Formats: sequence, structure tokens, C-alpha cells
Amino acid sequence: METRPAALVLGAGIMGLCTAWGLLREGYSVRVVDQAPPPNPRGSSVDHHRLIRHAYGAQAGYMRMVDSAYAAWDELWADLGEVLHVPTGVLAIDEAGGEWLRESRAALRAEGRAVTDLSAPEVTARFPYLAGDGIAGAFWCPEGGVLLAERIVAALARHVVARGAVIETARAVRVDAAHASLVLEDGSRRSAEVLVVAAGPWIPRLLPSIGQRVTASRQVLVRLAPPPELAESFAGAPMIIDLSGGFYMVPPVAGTPLKIGDHSFSLEGDPDDPDRTPDPREAERILALARRRIPALDRFAHLGAATCFYDVEPEERFVVEKISRRAWVMSGFSGHGFKFGALLGRRLAEAIAKPELEAFLPAWAAGDEVMAA
Ligand SMILES: Cc1cc2nc3c(=O)[nH]c(=O)nc-3n(C[C@H](O)[C@H](O)[C@H](O)COP(=O)(O)OP(=O)(O)OC[C@H]3O[C@@H](n4cnc5c(N)ncnc54)[C@H](O)[C@@H]3O)c2cc1C
Repeated sequence: METRPAALVLGAGIMGLCTAWGLLREGYSVRVVDQAPPPNPRGSSVDHHRLIRHAYGAQAGYMRMVDSAYAAWDELWADLGEVLHVPTGVLAIDEAGGEWLRESRAALRAEGRAVTDLSAPEVTARFPYLAGDGIAGAFWCPEGGVLLAERIVAALARHVVARGAVIETARAVRVDAAHASLVLEDGSRRSAEVLVVAAGPWIPRLLPSIGQRVTASRQVLVRLAPPPELAESFAGAPMIIDLSGGFYMVPPVAGTPLKIGDHSFSLEGDPDDPDRTPDPREAERILALARRRIPALDRFAHLGAATCFYDVEPEERFVVEKISRRAWVMSGFSGHGFKFGALLGRRLAEAIAKPELEAFLPAWAAGDEVMAA
């Protein structure tokens, strides 16, 4: 008779599914509950892509975690039988000599990582589709790339089910952390020996105490296709982080569209709002951020704009904490959690299986580097 310990995970986004993956590897039987079958396009995790990069400003803890994150993704690719990451490198640009660029560069150099400073003429010589106007500083890192988010979530869901996990489509209306239980909309309960709540931007509703620390934030992004004469250049383009422009650009890799989004948090909106269509003026605001740097932008075909929510912690520090003797929460992933999904899922599962590890987890996940990588 099998006596595997039972785990219950709320949320089949990248955090919940990676934790389910880790728990299966630790010998748990796993049930995942989500209000929609994965990949849920309304979750934070489900878009074509998410970026992974070492450049992290002064947050050196997260910069160092990126090496462990890559190692965890490699473990996942081995289990999935496919690599869902496309290397692109990183181009970071600033007009004002701002802190993020300076601190990132210093932290990268201090660790001996490859980083090349570029002047404005060097940027335009290397990336002729960009304008050099106003560039005060820029650097290029060969490491970094695109995680094919939606495909990862879909493949992970298939994988954990093939390994014996159950993914149940149901909405939880209450978390009973003390009993490692969820109360579902139909009044029934699901319980296990351990519960992990990874509910993305819906967390404030389920756990008001965590809701005092994180805020759901509605973000707008625009999908584009470069004109035919620039298609090849942009297909080989790096991810671009333009700090003074306030935008990031994801190149069109592996059949995905080119995407432009912004760096500022709206800190408003309701992830349950049935209408997620952005106003055309919101899309235009995003395009306006990038127009100066990408002069051909108005010749790009518009493939549509979308909104996506994440849960913002004021200092963008992740919240991976015990909320009772038998329950954990994963929250506060702000705009940068996806890259750490495989790593955080594995580490939380290890800490659940080996409680001597659990004391270190919250501070490490918050970027404080107290846990050995
Ligand atoms: C526009 C945008 C750009 C981003 N860019 C990057 C990037 O470049 N790099 C990076 O690393 N990160 C990035 N992120 C952040 C990253 O995507 C998120 O941090 C990450 O996906 C969070 O995953 P999650 O599993 O916590 O949340 P989610 O993916 O939202 O998963 C939570 C799940 O819980 C379910 N759920 C919630 N409440 C209930 C309930 N009551 N009952 C049942 N199910 C429920 C939801 O249906 C959902 O599927 C970005 C995010 C956005 C929105």
C-alpha cells in the first residue's frame, strides 16, 4: 500500500506547477486546484514570453539567483524533454546615467560576468534599427533570453499529470491554513498534509494578511510584427531594456510576436474584471515610450494589445513564507518572478520535505542571499 504524503497546491501558474513538480520529485502525491485549466490566459504566467537576465540593478541577491534559476530550468527541460528557452542576450540603455544601469554593470563586473559597455554610436552600429538619440550609457550582456512562458506552463501541466498529479478545475473561496485545506465554491473541501497557496494576483482575496503586503497591478503590453524588410534583424534582436524610455522589448522568437511593455506599475485593477481589453490610448502610451528608440515602429503591424496582472510587493521582494504549521504562501512576484519559477518550486518542495531547510527559505526568496545557491 502506497503511503506517499499528500500535498495540495492552489494555483496552476508557474509557481504552483513548479512546486507541484518539485513535490512529485520529493515523493509527494499532489493535487493542484485552479479556477481554469492550465494554461490560464488570465494568470500572470501566461503570455508568450517572460525574460530571464542577470542584470538586476543593486539587487545582487536576485542577480546571483539567476545562475541557480538556469540550473533549475535545465532540470525541468530534462524532465519535459524539450528546451523552452531562447537565448537573446540583453541590451540595456539609459539616457540619464541612471542608477539601475550603473549598479547592474558594477554588480555584473564584480562577479566577473560578461558585460560590454556601448556608446550611442556603438549601439546604432551594432543594432542599426535603433536610434542613438540621447543615449548616455548602454551595455550588452550575452547571457539572458526568453522563456516561452505559455508553452512552459502547458508542458509542465501535462508533465505533472503524467507523473500522477491531479489538476482539478475549481474555484477556492477560502483558505484554511491551519488544516491545510481549501474550501471550494461548491462548499466541498480539499485537504492534505501540506498546502501551498500560489494564487498570483488573486492572493489578496484569499489571504488578506498577505493582501496588505502585495497589490494586484494591471499592466498593458502591445504585440507587433516588424515590417518584412526588418523581420530578420528583429528576429535576431536582443531583449531591450530602455530605462529612460521606460519600456522593454521582447524580440519575436520561436514564432512569438514582438512585444513591448513598460516598467511602471499601475497598482490598480481587478484580475476578475471580465473585460481585459485595453483602451487604444493605453496601447498608444506604451508605443510612445518606444517610438524614439525604434524609429520604424509606426511601420510595424499591430497584432493587438493585452492586459496582464501581477502581484506587486513594494520592494519587489518575493514572499515565500509559512502561514501555518502546514501551509505556505508564494506571492509578491511583481514583474520578475517567472524566471525563478523552477528554482522556487524546487526549493520550496525541498524545504517542505526537509524541514531543516525551511528557516532559510523566506529571506533567500526575498533576495537576501542567506541560502546556499
Ligand atoms: C506583463 C508581465 C510581464 C512580466 N515579465 C516578466 C519577465 O520578463 N520576467 C519574469 O521573470 N517575470 C515576469 N513577469 C512576472 C511573472 O510572470 C509572474 O511573477 C509569475 O508568472 C507569477 O506566477 P504565479 O504562479 O504566482 O501566478 P499566476 O500565473 O497568476 O498563477 C496563479 C493561479 O492561481 C489561480 N487562482 C487564483 N485564485 C484562485 C482561486 N480562488 N481558486 C482557484 N484558482 C485560483 C489562477 O487561476 C492562476 O492560474 C511578468 C508579468 C507580467 C504580468
